[in-house]
Amino acid sequence: MEGEVGGSNGVWGGGESLLILGAVRARDSSSLGKEVVEHFVPRHGFLVCVDSDGCVFDTMGIKQRECFIPWTIAHFGLQPVAQAARECKEFADLFSNTRGANRHVTLKRVLAELLPTHPSVKSRAFQVPQLRYYFAWVEASVGDLSHEGLKKAIAQAPNEQARREFEQVLAWSERVNWAVREIVKGVPPFPYARHSLERLAGVADVVVVSQTPMEALQREWDEQGIRTYAALICGQEMGTKSQVVALTARHYSPERVLVIGDAWGDLEAAKENHVLFYPIVPGREEQSWKELYEQGLSRFLSGTYAGAYEAEQIALLQRALPDRPPWEAR
Ligand SMILES: [Mg+2]
Repeated sequence: MEGEVGGSNGVWGGGESLLILGAVRARDSSSLGKEVVEHFVPRHGFLVCVDSDGCVFDTMGIKQRECFIPWTIAHFGLQPVAQAARECKEFADLFSNTRGANRHVTLKRVLAELLPTHPSVKSRAFQVPQLRYYFAWVEASVGDLSHEGLKKAIAQAPNEQARREFEQVLAWSERVNWAVREIVKGVPPFPYARHSLERLAGVADVVVVSQTPMEALQREWDEQGIRTYAALICGQEMGTKSQVVALTARHYSPERVLVIGDAWGDLEAAKENHVLFYPIVPGREEQSWKELYEQGLSRFLSGTYAGAYEAEQIALLQRALPDRPPWEAR
């Protein structure tokens, strides 16, 4: 999941890579990010690209339930339908095909699509605020749904209403970042995630592929003492997940590259690059990691992962992340 907007520099697990940090530090953060990935040098014959939020760390639930949801209710006046707002936000961000998507994509989905059609919102005839200038910005700004993008939109707002909408969303987003910094700390990796990383040490290069800002990734992997297992950590500054997988996977044969993730975006990054995928299934993360540790990794390392076994695992993810909410069937 994308967590907070911000962050800065690239991070290497390996010692000698730090030498090139000084050389590229002076450039802007986007070119720095891409350069870091382009300079990646493999050490082993296998590559494992692993997502962080909701995959290695059990942080998705706490971020949504304790940070995003209360402040979404507060900032958009959803108190009269708070329970429905909670259900919609949990569906959009945790238990549907948009799990792990950018926060603006899911906020728009909640306000424009899910909440207005929720049964208790309809029965109470509650009018969900429709931020039409903001919704149009979300649709038009796919690659730039960030604080910087919002500030640009505020500066270029065509009228007072548009400016108010963008300011309202920026205030919400900043408040959420504050809440995440205050609340989301000390969350350990899922059981068997650490064991799996240990098992891969010395056999495979592990690259963290995440849409979370670098600053948060670095803090979380350091805090839990698992950064040494990563050859490279890539946050939202380094590009999309698919781009990072492409740039690192080009050094290996495709059947020796495994992407591990908990959302559709992770699966798509694997499929777009024609490499293997293993899901950490939302709601059964511990079982997923145990299965990977006990079965999946040996299959991957012995070349028997592709085929029926992989398809079976992917089907579990597809079942866990439907595209329509459960209340539509009620
Ligand atoms: Mg994730």
